[in-house]
Amino acid sequence: MNKRKSFLYSQKFCLFIVLLLVSCRSNSKDVFDYSQLSSNDREIIINQIDSLKRSNKFYKIIFKELDRLEKPIVFFIKNDVEIAGFVPNKATKGGNIIFTDINKIYNEHVIVEEIFHAFQYSFYGKNSMIKNDKGEVVGGPNYEYEAKLMRAIVNLSQNKPAAETPSQKGLLDFTLSLINENGNITSFEFTENQHKLYINLVKHFQIHWKQRNINEERNSLYDDPIIENLGPKACLHILKIYYL
Ligand SMILES: [Zn+2]
Repeated sequence: MNKRKSFLYSQKFCLFIVLLLVSCRSNSKDVFDYSQLSSNDREIIINQIDSLKRSNKFYKIIFKELDRLEKPIVFFIKNDVEIAGFVPNKATKGGNIIFTDINKIYNEHVIVEEIFHAFQYSFYGKNSMIKNDKGEVVGGPNYEYEAKLMRAIVNLSQNKPAAETPSQKGLLDFTLSLINENGNITSFEFTENQHKLYINLVKHFQIHWKQRNINEERNSLYDDPIIENLGPKACLHILKIYYL
């Protein structure tokens, strides 16, 4: 090989290495932004996410889907906020997950709910889950109730009890009705009847919260308008990946 040729080869080789490094970097991307946390909290959250991914395939899938959608999710620990949990960010199409206390990360009820809300927002698109001019999230009860359904499914998959609160009355029976005798879910689209049953549960949830928001003088999106034709599509998407 003459000098010029070998020079070209070495250049190509360098380019190959650079491209390899770039692609490795983008493969290891993380949609989670921990820059707002103390180094201690950051380590706790990273370790907990890692252990959740290893503990249950549902978590692994939800985290993977979040990664795939590439919308940044920023973690915050703040004890002086009015609304904790997932707050969508229309500009980035991602959002913030705010915990009032770092120990919330160990509460699986909290973590499934908020991580799933983050996934829902990436899944349904930038105008979903955002307040309109009236200060309402159209579909608010749909999104909230869907997170309860996802949580019930994750709990049952780990042989943990899936509790229902008075606002979620009927959730457990409905979730169990989706599971066949082998403990699996085989249908990833609702029949008309299943959809009707599901929306009735969402309506019950909304009515319960209408009264409760009045009694407790708060304004949660739990009693905002329902989207009648919106089934739990994000949840069914996760189920499909899990079972297929
Ligand atoms: Zn929620």
